[in-house]
Amino acid sequence: MRTILTGIRPTGHLHLGHYFGAGQNWLKLQGNYDFYLEIADIQALTDNFDNPAKVRQSVRDLAVDLLAMGIDPKKVHIFIQSRIPEIAELTVIYSNLVTMARLYRNPTVKNEIAQKKALFGHDGESVTYGFVGYPVSQAADITAFAGELIPVGDDQLPLIEQCREIVRKFNNIYGKTLLEPEPLLSPTPRIKGLDGSEKMGKSLGNGIFLCDDEATVKKKIMGALTDPDKIKKDDPANPEICMVYYYHKLIANENLKTVCTECKKGLRGCVDCKKELIVKMMEFLKPIQEKQKYYNEHPEEVDQILLAGTENALKKAKETMKKVRHSIQIDYFEEND
Ligand code: SF4
Repeated sequence: MRTILTGIRPTGHLHLGHYFGAGQNWLKLQGNYDFYLEIADIQALTDNFDNPAKVRQSVRDLAVDLLAMGIDPKKVHIFIQSRIPEIAELTVIYSNLVTMARLYRNPTVKNEIAQKKALFGHDGESVTYGFVGYPVSQAADITAFAGELIPVGDDQLPLIEQCREIVRKFNNIYGKTLLEPEPLLSPTPRIKGLDGSEKMGKSLGNGIFLCDDEATVKKKIMGALTDPDKIKKDDPANPEICMVYYYHKLIANENLKTVCTECKKGLRGCVDCKKELIVKMMEFLKPIQEKQKYYNEHPEEVDQILLAGTENALKKAKETMKKVRHSIQIDYFEEND
């Protein structure tokens, strides 16, 4: 079985952007690969180093959401990044193989720094060493588990390329030790926000979370962007520029054709259309929310799953670390192990 590694930062509950952008793909992949799913708490701390309580709570919330959306712990090793010290060890070793200039040139890092600046008014001075270096830690995440395939969106490709460069440099200097990973592009990497933004984001406040209750879903959908040229109920409109239609399509409303035809002919008002979406959305979320409820009421079960997944991941990382230490001749005393 080929090895897949993917990760997600615990910074809150999952939303539909996560579900359709990555989660659905993971559900298809599970069972066909040796699948490692990392809850990247150390990476979450690069942005939240002053709020560890938030990250800790989010680890549990994220684990519950992953299980609720159908990730099967019998098929996927769900593990916590900070419980694998080998990742930190590899990060330090790899940090000698990357220049600062190369890290600053990484388009993903560049974009994220620009976003932070726009959102929080950060200037270059407030960007930490840990943040700029996170692609190095990500290379450690991937190689620790000998990840061969990495499911990503196209915005993440530069991170995989950076990892491949590190692997090549390591193998050139110390001899062939590490596997070069390949990206596995997600079929739907980006899900639009209710406001029409290109991406649904937690900080953008434009998404529906898997745990949102009916009142919250109602409020969000009622405020969603529709065709701005449709003023009266019986005005014909263009569903393709309407976020309500986009979400009808996303959750595969079986009445999609009717929604489209009635919208184009001016036979449907936006309020009724939104009300229908609210009903369909709650139907879609119901089985997920039932499982969330179950796992929230059985925290010991979630702990056991995380513990077992982390133990499996640790075993794999130890094998890699042994090879790495040997290659760079720091395997002191290991013959006595
Ligand atoms: Fe959008 Fe529905 Fe209004 Fe058409 S009728 S613009 S699909 S909300």
